Amino acid sequence: MTATAITGARLFDGIGARAPATVLIDEGRIVSVGGPVPEGAEVVDGSGGTLLPGLIDAHVHTSPRALALALAFGVTTELEMQGTHTRDERRHISDDDALADVRSCGFAITPPGGHPSELFPEGSRPGPPPGARPAGEPPLMPFSTTPEEAMAFVPRLIARGADYIKFMVDDGTVEGHPGLPMLDQATLSAGVAEAKRHGMITIAHALTLDAAYMAIEAGVDGLAHVFMDQPHTEEVVSLLRDSDTFVVPCVVLNASMMGLTGDELADDPRVASRLDDDWMTTLRSSFGHYPQGKLSHVLDTVRALHDAGVDILAGTDASVPLPFLGGLAHGASVHHELQYLTRAGLTPSQALRAATSTTARRFGLTDRGRIAEGLRADLLLVDGDPTTTISDTLNTRAVWRRGTRLEAREEAP
Ligand SMILES: [Zn+2]
Repeated sequence: MTATAITGARLFDGIGARAPATVLIDEGRIVSVGGPVPEGAEVVDGSGGTLLPGLIDAHVHTSPRALALALAFGVTTELEMQGTHTRDERRHISDDDALADVRSCGFAITPPGGHPSELFPEGSRPGPPPGARPAGEPPLMPFSTTPEEAMAFVPRLIARGADYIKFMVDDGTVEGHPGLPMLDQATLSAGVAEAKRHGMITIAHALTLDAAYMAIEAGVDGLAHVFMDQPHTEEVVSLLRDSDTFVVPCVVLNASMMGLTGDELADDPRVASRLDDDWMTTLRSSFGHYPQGKLSHVLDTVRALHDAGVDILAGTDASVPLPFLGGLAHGASVHHELQYLTRAGLTPSQALRAATSTTARRFGLTDRGRIAEGLRADLLLVDGDPTTTISDTLNTRAVWRRGTRLEAREEAP
């Protein structure tokens, strides 16, 4: 492989904006930042553009087709929060530079009949989309109603290659299914403690303030959503800060739950040109189960958490192209989430950290998330300067995954 030198581009290095500098990549890695262009290197002129680390979506449910779409939008890693892409089930993905890389918890610990079963119409079951899984063992479904059951599933999930352990804490309130079976505090706390005893990162799905309190009480490392049923309280902000819990707000998902579609994103020709009809229809739809919710409360909560010093991570909850899971599309919605984070009050650079270095740090992905010598050459080159105008992240000029430049496609993947 010939070394590639990307010259003349401003940098967002994962932490902040830097003056233009040459970034040299070779053998899938960043070899140097700010050095000379060696003889024989292929030169990519980045003048007028900004080079960023590949973006990371910290909440998806994915498939090879979705990973291809994500990569076309400069998202080089997706973190699956329920799905099939655990360690032994993703070798074909890890080695394919036409797809975003992926990590996964496998399936989340939830009671039988608990979330997310209520999201699916009668007759369709939550599970891997057809063709998403290579031939092999069926996924482990860790249905638990007691502390003993939850604790017993933890080592089994780890043995099956889970990268982190997720817990559903949801009584169905915001999905229009009140009374849904939910993990109780004892089961949640025992499962989290067991996962931490095994050195695993723990994440909770919680969409209400009460569920967030339960997750904090159990000591999770992070929340896969921000609550949407109430404004924040000073107490919950302090608890999240003092426990160093990270939050993946998925504002795009909360907006969709309130019936707000992804129309403003779909209307952007930089997005529409890359989505097929199924994804466009999905993006222009919404979950719509909680129209009484207030997006202003969610944005205020994100701002309060950020101001308190809570780590905010960009995530979307994008899954499959079905209108009842709408308002979202892989890759594209990360850019929408970045726009929402700035609407909440983060600066563009703070929002970009939420999709790069902060996520890498909180998930132990030490080989990515920044532009620095020795890291993976997962890179996004855009026209303009997203550290001043966040929507410039959509001005894709080039994407590299492990140093391999993504071929421009004639049609959506
Ligand atoms: Zn999800």
